[in-house]
Amino acid sequence: MLVVACVKQVPDTTQVSIDPVTNTLVREGIPNIMNPFDTHALEEALRLKDAYGVRVVVVSMGPPNAEVTLRKALSLGADEAILLSDRAFGGADTLATSRVLAEAIKKLAEEDELALVICGKQTIDGDTAQVGPGIAVNVDLVPLTLVDKIIDLDLDNKSITVSRKLERRHEIVQAQLPALITVVREINRPRYPTVPMRLKAQETPVEIWNNESMGLDVNQIGLKGSPTAVRKIFSPEREPGEIIGDGTNDPVGTAQLLVDKLVSKELLHL
Ligand SMILES: Cc1cc2nc3c(=O)[nH]c(=O)nc-3n(C[C@H](O)[C@H](O)[C@H](O)COP(=O)(O)OP(=O)(O)OC[C@H]3O[C@@H](n4cnc5c(N)ncnc54)[C@H](O)[C@@H]3O)c2cc1C
Repeated sequence: MLVVACVKQVPDTTQVSIDPVTNTLVREGIPNIMNPFDTHALEEALRLKDAYGVRVVVVSMGPPNAEVTLRKALSLGADEAILLSDRAFGGADTLATSRVLAEAIKKLAEEDELALVICGKQTIDGDTAQVGPGIAVNVDLVPLTLVDKIIDLDLDNKSITVSRKLERRHEIVQAQLPALITVVREINRPRYPTVPMRLKAQETPVEIWNNESMGLDVNQIGLKGSPTAVRKIFSPEREPGEIIGDGTNDPVGTAQLLVDKLVSKELLHL
């Protein structure tokens, strides 16, 4: 039984700024990391490996240097790592990205029975949360987003029950396998790699699949297969904050001032 974890290498956005002239992200000199939500996706796949002995394959679409992120996944316990890398895949929007990842997953499913695909809820750079559902549609998997717990996985009867974390409630959903889940941070605490696993990961090859091996229609992938383009990127303007009181003197008077402000802005109704 196969479980695929999709991980994306992203710039550490805590260190990224926006170029005010070109409106693009300034990525130079910024370290790359595994998308934080994907560390939870991988951890969940590894927990299923520990519990059920499933085979865990990690897949990433990205430039050649994304191999570093895949090697990290191997050091944590993934059985195999595949990097989908080709100039033809470059410039992809979320639709074209989902297509390439989906075709890779279909190829893997030809050799092993696919139980589950696990993605992060979203990335910290693109932030769209579209790729997981996009893969599900292309592979014909049941999409279960925002999962904070796998309550039950029944590989014999091919069913999964999960908890979905919604805004003010949880939703318990049962679905048939194969399914695709996208996970939120609360689902688990990712493990750390051990030294022996790190050493083993250095010797495990990361497979590179290019478009020669995948044979995808170049009009459906990369820039050509992307119907959307980013026109502008900018930080939203915010009103400057106002500090009321000095934090120590006259707390009652300060609270009253705050209440008056909120009432005058119609944010509070007394
Ligand atoms: C309109 C638009 C145009 C774009 N144009 C370009 C462009 O011209 N050039 C460019 O470089 N980028 C471009 N991008 C960014 C690129 O499309 C995204 O980085 C990529 O499609 C993933 O989308 P996301 O980061 O929003 O992922 P999300 O949908 O937020 O990711 C959800 C989950 O899907 C999985 N996932 C996402 N991406 C990957 C991946 N590559 N490999 C493995 N798993 C993955 C992960 O598990 C992740 O947690 C564009 C994005 C948009 C929205």
